[in-house]
Amino acid sequence: MLTDARPAHIGQNVVEVGIPDIDRTHPDLAAMVGRGNYWVLGNGLSLAAQRNGDGRVRIGISFYHTAEDWFATSGIPFDDPAAARARLIDLLPGWDSRFTALIAACDDTVVPRSITTLPVGLTWPSTPGVTLLGDAAHLMPPVGEGANMALLDGALLGLALAAHPDDFPVAVKEYEREMFERTSTAARMSVEMQELLTSPDAAQKMLAFFQPG
Ligand SMILES: Cc1cc2nc3c(=O)[nH]c(=O)nc-3n(C[C@H](O)[C@H](O)[C@H](O)COP(=O)(O)OP(=O)(O)OC[C@H]3O[C@@H](n4cnc5c(N)ncnc54)[C@H](O)[C@@H]3O)c2cc1C
Repeated sequence: MLTDARPAHIGQNVVEVGIPDIDRTHPDLAAMVGRGNYWVLGNGLSLAAQRNGDGRVRIGISFYHTAEDWFATSGIPFDDPAAARARLIDLLPGWDSRFTALIAACDDTVVPRSITTLPVGLTWPSTPGVTLLGDAAHLMPPVGEGANMALLDGALLGLALAAHPDDFPVAVKEYEREMFERTSTAARMSVEMQELLTSPDAAQKMLAFFQPG
């Protein structure tokens, strides 16, 4: 109804796993992951562990430079979680046992996520009665902005509608003007971060990124 743009695969496939109630079940791993994001960067691979509000640690293992049909050939048996965990550890050759312990500790939820994005800076002519928000409007590489942008979209669209109760087309236009600008900036930054993560010297570049000045 608004755009012909379609998400396209970006050569990344993620397997999502997780450790429930980590403070009680695996206090050693909880201390290692800490309270925010924990990254392990390899060559064409990464592991990202993120503590969620309910004490679960969500872990995404990313396989970069892989094709859209990679899951079919990956040998990961998604219907057999124990075997899937073992296969995932096999797919991280030479990784220190501290990192693979994170996968061994996961529960039976093993989810394949094929990563696609919409074009950066996507816009459409405002159309009364319909708009998009969240990933539907600005699907970007998963480096930490998507959910934040989606929540803000919802809040700002709500405020715009409340401010123009008798003129929803104006409210939608106002929301879209701000959303297009804000989310295209976030999408451009996400593409840069994605390039960093997928480069052969990702770990060194990430360290440099966090150096002051
Ligand atoms: C591996 C990974 C890690 C990420 N990490 C982060 C992070 O650290 N920080 C961050 O901010 N973002 C992160 N993101 C991005 C974040 O998950 C998304 O940006 C966010 O979920 C988008 O929310 P949404 O509501 O727009 O879409 P979704 O969460 O996709 O919700 C859309 C919902 O609509 C439902 N649906 C679809 N079609 C229909 C239909 N026809 N009828 C009814 N229901 C339908 C779907 O089932 C789904 O439940 C990550 C993404 C991935 C893949």
